Amino acid sequence: MNGSITAISGSTVRTDLPGLKLYERVLVGHRRLTGEVVRLEAGRAVIHIYEDPHGLAVGEPVAGLDRQLTVDLGPGMLGRMYDGLQRPLQILEKLDGPFLRSGTVVTALDLEASWEASVAVNEGDRVGQHDCIAGVEEGQIVHRVRVPAGVEGRVGRLAASPLKLGEPFCLLDDGRALYLHHAWPVRVPRPFKRKLPPSRPVVTGQRVIDFLFPVARGGAVVIPGGFGAGKTILLQTIAKFADVDVVIYAGCGERGNEMSELIEDFRKMTDRAGARPLVERTVLVVNTSNMPVAAREASIYTAVTMGEYFRDLGLDVLLLADSLSRWAEALREISSSLEEMPGEEGYPTYLASRLAAFVERAGEVETLCGDRGSLTMILSASPPGEDFTEPVTQALLRTTGGLLMLDSSLAHARHFPAINWSLSYSVYDRELLPHFSEAAGEAWGRLRAFCRDILRREETLREIVEIVGMEGLQDADRLLMMTAEEIRDRFLGQNVFSDDAYSSPAHTLAAIDRIFARHQAVSDRLGGEQSLAEIIEELDKSGQAGNGRKRKEEP
Ligand code: ADP
Ligand code: MG
Repeated sequence: MNGSITAISGSTVRTDLPGLKLYERVLVGHRRLTGEVVRLEAGRAVIHIYEDPHGLAVGEPVAGLDRQLTVDLGPGMLGRMYDGLQRPLQILEKLDGPFLRSGTVVTALDLEASWEASVAVNEGDRVGQHDCIAGVEEGQIVHRVRVPAGVEGRVGRLAASPLKLGEPFCLLDDGRALYLHHAWPVRVPRPFKRKLPPSRPVVTGQRVIDFLFPVARGGAVVIPGGFGAGKTILLQTIAKFADVDVVIYAGCGERGNEMSELIEDFRKMTDRAGARPLVERTVLVVNTSNMPVAAREASIYTAVTMGEYFRDLGLDVLLLADSLSRWAEALREISSSLEEMPGEEGYPTYLASRLAAFVERAGEVETLCGDRGSLTMILSASPPGEDFTEPVTQALLRTTGGLLMLDSSLAHARHFPAINWSLSYSVYDRELLPHFSEAAGEAWGRLRAFCRDILRREETLREIVEIVGMEGLQDADRLLMMTAEEIRDRFLGQNVFSDDAYSSPAHTLAAIDRIFARHQAVSDRLGGEQSLAEIIEELDKSGQAGNGRKRKEEP
């Protein structure tokens, strides 16, 4: 059937092409720009174009593809940088130069590439849905190739390894062809057997996170922060150090050079074991500020679908998105171009439910094949004017299990990561405590309570100090203030540009234990003849009780 463009307004196009379905992917105009059907009306469809629509004219053709926006999943994604439509940017750059031309068609995976594969079936075998019939090694991970849902039959013909990605490696007797890769619609969550309760952490190497506000595998946390509060640096640091198998980093509307620097860095840096370049476990999905706004809306779905694919291989995946506010702005733009009734602050009324549906795709699961895999989300938000009551931050708070609130006043004071310790929280801390106690030491829970207590009491004391001054405090309270300062500066603060960028749980525990031991040692002597200053001087001289003040932190 033929159809053409009947009206254009920005990136929104109307067409008279009949038979289109909601969210169907379409090619628009002579340049065959990618678009998606976002609304159906009597006799016409509204399409949102994900590419630069400049020069598009009424009357140009529109073609439906009879499928939704999909991503291609299989070996060859790791180390690549994609845009929101899963077009490989490094390859497009070679073809087109740094400014993407619209409509260029490049496949997401290199279909010409050949992969060594171990095929687990023989000709004549019966296979059914979800059976694992081949394994392809890519670096440290194995892509287990499975029979798609609803497919069964007898293996007719098998190709010999190495297998070409673009060609079927297995033909069933009914003529159906099986490939090493497959497409999946980005807006449809991939199925699993069941969700598992959180029980293991993602160790980030950031003391303030691991110790006070830990992130569970399969959990979701939000990092809201104003401009310059350190969102991007924090996410990138977590991408470097997190103990997961695969990292999907979605840069959404942030500066473009940040992303290319990141991938360059990751090429040079190796993982914690020093075994392989970080880039080999990372996939970047980039929609920088100079790319069409609407493509951002698709990009987080592209990223999460890739994440679910790796989860389904039985891996631990971390999805980092910077920032969801930019995504929500894209949603707002699409909504207003559709002339929908706006909700709070002009965002569509379905903002919260869209965000919730996205966050729900996180989780630790038993996969359809009985493996255990997890998809963890750490999502930044950039509330305008640092108004944390705005709709995007609020909607995220309702659906995530943790808040790492970045505080501009801490960032201005060069306290990084600028995570506010009194307003942040993690609902996972109780579930994860047994894990940390076992991995780092029994004292984890007790010292965490000590640390929180000191920080909480300092807050109250500070108000008193403002009135009476430090001199007006009793020695015990002055000691508390000093210990709190030490916790803040030497324990919670961590400079990414130093050797201290990563702190293992054992090292974290040792660091807080030193502060605790010193606090105890001083506290035990209070009430005698000596003043606080004298006790401290004496302890410093004898180097007793792990003097955290003078000694340099061990790596
Ligand atoms: P945002 O993404 O929130 O706008 P950035 O992540 O770009 O902020 O951080 C802004 C600046 O703050 C960085 O350029 C860096 O100088 C400093 N910074 C942020 N986090 C850290 C950190 N953990 N250690 C040291 N400096 C940091
Ligand atoms: Mg940033």
